[in-house]
Amino acid sequence: MNSPVPGLSSRAAEFVRRTHGLFIGGAFVPAADGRTFPTYDPSTGAHLADAPYAGPADVDAAVAAARSALDGPWGALPALGRSRLLVRLAELLEEHAAELAEIEALDGGKPVAMNEAMDLPAAIEHFRYYAGWPTKIEGETIPVHLPDTLCYTRKEPVGVCAQIIPWNYPLMMAAWKLAPALAAGCTVVLKPAEQTPLSALRLAELVREAGFPPGTVNVLTGDGETGRALVRHEGVAKIAFTGSTQVGREIAAGAGERLQRVTLELGGKSPNIVLADADIDAAVEGAFSGIYFNSGQTCIAASRLYVHRSRYEEVVGRLAGAAQKAEVGPALDRATRFGPLVSAEQYERVRGYLLGGLAAGATLRAGEVPPAAPDGGFFVRPALFTDVTPGMRIVREEIFGPVLVAAPFDDVEEAVALANDTPYGLAAGVWTRSLGQAHTLAARLRAGMVYLNSWASGDPGAPFGGVKASGIGREMGRANLDAYLETKTVWTSLAF
Ligand code: ADP
Repeated sequence: MNSPVPGLSSRAAEFVRRTHGLFIGGAFVPAADGRTFPTYDPSTGAHLADAPYAGPADVDAAVAAARSALDGPWGALPALGRSRLLVRLAELLEEHAAELAEIEALDGGKPVAMNEAMDLPAAIEHFRYYAGWPTKIEGETIPVHLPDTLCYTRKEPVGVCAQIIPWNYPLMMAAWKLAPALAAGCTVVLKPAEQTPLSALRLAELVREAGFPPGTVNVLTGDGETGRALVRHEGVAKIAFTGSTQVGREIAAGAGERLQRVTLELGGKSPNIVLADADIDAAVEGAFSGIYFNSGQTCIAASRLYVHRSRYEEVVGRLAGAAQKAEVGPALDRATRFGPLVSAEQYERVRGYLLGGLAAGATLRAGEVPPAAPDGGFFVRPALFTDVTPGMRIVREEIFGPVLVAAPFDDVEEAVALANDTPYGLAAGVWTRSLGQAHTLAARLRAGMVYLNSWASGDPGAPFGGVKASGIGREMGRANLDAYLETKTVWTSLAF
């Protein structure tokens, strides 16, 4: 079969062209009312495929399928059975990595080489990591004060989970959500973002091939309304959401009403501090990739840079030079390091911030305001603002694009105050050769994650998440497993 898109392999092309279905109860089915919605290639702006649009009837069906899997074959599977299936899914992802990397590039505009080098391995290792957990989920015996009494705890799956993910790392986010839930023994209804529905549907095929009992994982494509119907469903015991702070607030409020368990991974405006004694080569490289990786469409983007005044011009000059040289290009081109933004809407939003920064009096040291209407793909070049003040919107708000703001500071107290002056608290970074300074600042920065002389390191075992408006709870590691487990305390009288 010839590819509809130059550079696309026949396997990925065949998948993209397929008539896509919602994945409910182990089968791919059209939406109950037959509705679909289009998805586009951000590198060209061209229509790519249509995905089924899940409405309330589909949400009902998916939650019911998840419930019956939990009460049936999945719930009855021993821990080792869950491990085996997670390992099998990791193997299948590995076998299909090249194809998935292409689907991801095509639907979300993420450079294919980046998907192969980072997203796919991260997703695969996430399943492998959590595959080790089911056999280690243990309760405890409690040495209670009552005589002739046995008291112990059981760890039980929370129940049916609604998992809602964004468009910036679709497959990796799906892995981050699915793996701990399945390890804990929960069943899932996963909703990918409307901008990037395809890789989750391909993942669903692999879930089926791996042999998970029907209904264990269900995938509903749709938009915010689909997500809203899903989180409001009374059959949903736990919600895991990654996305905007605004939607996170709405979900948390509703979860509070219904007393559903909830974890939220939300926005950020993460500060990156370069002290006078830093290794400047490393700091410049770290600051550059910290903000421009995935064209700034990363929740932990290092979007605010604070540099000691004695090194400020040097650092900013070098960053501006590197940003000016950065080439943007189509996601399927293996040479592309910086792809397009995900959608016309995101392009317009980032353009608005660039115009707003200039109007507020900031200086654009690198990059440019892109044309009002994109000419084909949604490309925005890496941009760097200087001469910013703390109240500017480009300094306070999450842009989710390749836009860095930089400012100097005179002493460490000022750096800490600037860094913490934000409603968010996802990540923070410090570049210094002083161990003492590094760890003192790690304690003082109000963020869920602090990177010392590095940025965006990660491992499935290391907790990931934020404080303040950046979210509630942690993903990865043991912490995320616990979010999918309830503790039941069992009291036994031994007097009989
Ligand atoms: P962004 O602005 O980056 O697109 P959103 O928070 O709007 O981020 O979207 C993230 C995910 O949440 C997507 O899958 C989207 O469809 C879903 N979503 C949007 N609005 C709601 C809502 N009110 N309730 C549940 N899910 C939603």
